[in-house]
Amino acid sequence: MRVLILGGTGEARALAAALTELADITFVSSLAGRVSRPALPVGDVRIGGFGGPDGLATYVTDLGIDAVVDATHPFAATITANAAQACGRTSTPLVVLRRPGWAQTATDDWTWVPDIATAAAAVAEHPAETVFLTTGRRDLAAFADDDRHSFVVRTVDPPDGQLPPRSTLLLARGPYTLDGERDLMKEHGVGLLVTKDSGGSMTVAKLAAARELGVPVIVVARPAVPVGVTTVATVDAAVDWLVRLRDTAAG
Ligand code: NAP
Repeated sequence: MRVLILGGTGEARALAAALTELADITFVSSLAGRVSRPALPVGDVRIGGFGGPDGLATYVTDLGIDAVVDATHPFAATITANAAQACGRTSTPLVVLRRPGWAQTATDDWTWVPDIATAAAAVAEHPAETVFLTTGRRDLAAFADDDRHSFVVRTVDPPDGQLPPRSTLLLARGPYTLDGERDLMKEHGVGLLVTKDSGGSMTVAKLAAARELGVPVIVVARPAVPVGVTTVATVDAAVDWLVRLRDTAAG
């Protein structure tokens, strides 16, 4: 059985590692090619877009892909929609591997918003002086006109678009520690944190630091997974899904 892993996440890399242990399953991991120096999974890797759902469907057919695991980031909604379309069209089994979102505790001061534009509108109204923006470089445009706040902007690679006028840019790649996040937020006098509900352990420390420091958080909710697509929450569950598929195909 030949599997396509749509990747770009720690879960996708963990899945690739797990599949090397399984007989009769070969796989190729796909990365978008967005970040410089991406962390590479073990095994075969291809890099770059497919050319929309049509291109992905052609790829799946041409390479004889038997199953697709969409292990992309929870906010990578376009490739997830494309995978659902391409797999539907080619009758290829598809599972979405989505790590759970972050859980709000009783002591958290979180405001949930449906998208980045609403997050930017909420920031514009907020009395905090300094805002810690961790939503990623491609979502900065929504905040670019805000000249009322100072922003601490953290991205993996340098943003190519415009930053808000009063910005301090930090280039960094997780995982982050609680001590580091606490120090950073204290050093910059952060009064508001903005994050997507990415989930996972790599970037969760900022939420623990915000909790300790009493810093409110604006959390952008995840886009929905396309209707009717099977979703699992762990790498083990994705492996089980593939093994069941392999065993069914083997009769
Ligand atoms: P996106 O908006 O859903 O996808 C935009 C386009 O990028 C897709 O239409 C596709 O191009 C290409 N693409 C995305 N993921 C791909 C993959 N794994 N392999 C090949 N092509 C891919 O995605 P995004 O939010 O830009 O994220 C890009 C990648 O970064 C994803 O793989 C994701 O797992 C990873 N990532 C995203 C975030 C985030 O916050 N969005 C955070 C961490 C990591 P074509 O239409 O040409 O096929």
